[in-house]
Amino acid sequence: MPAESQSSTPQRPATGPSAAEPPATGPGSVAARLAVVRDRIAAAAGAAGRDPGEVRLLVATKTQPPQAVLEALAAGVDLIGENRVQELVAKAPAVADRLAAGALEVHMIGHLQRNKINQVLATATGLETLDSLDLAQAISDRCVRDGRTGDRALDVMVQVNVTGEESKSGVEPDAAGALATAVAALPGLRLTGFMTIGAHLDSAAEHTVRAGFARLRAVRDEVRASSAQGTETATELSMGMTGDLELAIAEGATIVRVGTAVFGRRPTP
Ligand SMILES: *Cc1c(COP(=O)(O)O)cnc(C)c1O
Repeated sequence: MPAESQSSTPQRPATGPSAAEPPATGPGSVAARLAVVRDRIAAAAGAAGRDPGEVRLLVATKTQPPQAVLEALAAGVDLIGENRVQELVAKAPAVADRLAAGALEVHMIGHLQRNKINQVLATATGLETLDSLDLAQAISDRCVRDGRTGDRALDVMVQVNVTGEESKSGVEPDAAGALATAVAALPGLRLTGFMTIGAHLDSAAEHTVRAGFARLRAVRDEVRASSAQGTETATELSMGMTGDLELAIAEGATIVRVGTAVFGRRPTP
């Protein structure tokens, strides 16, 4: 047995990437993790008898520095989502070129307060968390005032709380259809679909999580079947994250929002 000083275990270099900072290339890099996520999406789509091209990857960038976001964009990501307006605004300069070139869409995926509407309109191409007509009306007014109608309308989704948990935002499933129909008729907003955050797999059974996703699909199908003005564009189902994207894809997700599987665990606040 070698003495301590003769240990064959190499010493960790004093400089170089820390454990918290993934390498730019190779295993563990954002690019490599993205490849794994894309494989998961393709496999889940295949298992559900769906075309993998029907499922878009939104990379959830909350708490990630601009550098990590840029690595994701370099690896082909064309849709990112931010939860907090403050972060959205802080990272906007880093992605401005891509955005201006039409090579990137940025969605707000966190709850939006009315006093932050201007900041979202300046930096995001879409909002996935509409949960009241009041908010929708306020955004619509702002878009109209800024001349953002027709092709330049803001993409919006109605967020639905399919789990009934008090802690989750979103409108109740029973009220989602009426809200969506009203939103679809507002100028300056383009209703593109519906978004939900599924029940947590730690505390809910798989079939319960799936039932929530199926509920969102039913809401969308009902709204589209109404043929009400502006509902023909409401095709998207934004559902599924790192832990449950397979279940969401099995239930028809067209956008999965993935953070942890792309960047690694977020530091706990
Ligand atoms: C953080 C977040 C995600 C991504 O969650 P992961 O489990 O890290 O993949 C998706 N949607 C919303 C609304 C989020 O806040």
